[in-house]
Amino acid sequence: MEVHEVEIVMSAVSETQYPTTGYPEIGLVGRSNVGKSSLTNVLINRKSLARTSSQPGKTRTLNFYEVEHQLYFVDVPGYGYAKVSKKEREKFGEMIEHYLTSRQQLRGVIQLVDSRHEPSADDISMHEWLRYYDIPVLVVGTKVDKIKPGVRNKAESQIRKSLNMDGDTELVLFSAETKFGKEKVWDWIEQHIGG
Ligand code: GDP
Repeated sequence: MEVHEVEIVMSAVSETQYPTTGYPEIGLVGRSNVGKSSLTNVLINRKSLARTSSQPGKTRTLNFYEVEHQLYFVDVPGYGYAKVSKKEREKFGEMIEHYLTSRQQLRGVIQLVDSRHEPSADDISMHEWLRYYDIPVLVVGTKVDKIKPGVRNKAESQIRKSLNMDGDTELVLFSAETKFGKEKVWDWIEQHIGG
């Protein structure tokens, strides 16, 4: 999809604030600093619409980006907060959980993991959780420009193995610097919002 028009529609803290247009939605999840804002900006051809986080973990709302009057990207706040209280974390988890399990418009979720490292325990539980709820998932290994081409296959199989990925679940290595993988990510999105 060639994107020309994007609007950040709203930052929602509760269901009453979610958009009501009915466009399909694609969620984006991953721990803070994994490259979620950077991926979003590459997908929508913008330098900095989706803010890149200077304060990891501080984005506490679901952010809806309306793209070409056709779909929303939904930035689901990063998991794995070190700095907030357990209570806050639980409350927050409920909002995410509720959105991911009950939102009719949600067609799939892009789960970002850092391709340089082994997936974290949080990455593993998130993947397991998405699979459990039968939510279509695309795993994106970010920052692939930082690893040598010769070890990319190895990184890929490491991610597959650690996340215990189903053979049918797609994995795309991606770089916001070189835009490597961008078309593959768009292909997956288009497949999932169609029909
Ligand atoms: P977010 O917290 O998940 O939204 O992460 P950001 O998109 O803000 O990225 C976190 C940091 O990683 C920033 O300093 C980015 O410039 C950097 N980053 C993100 N994606 C890439 C990438 O593909 N390659 C490289 N080299 N750095 C990246």
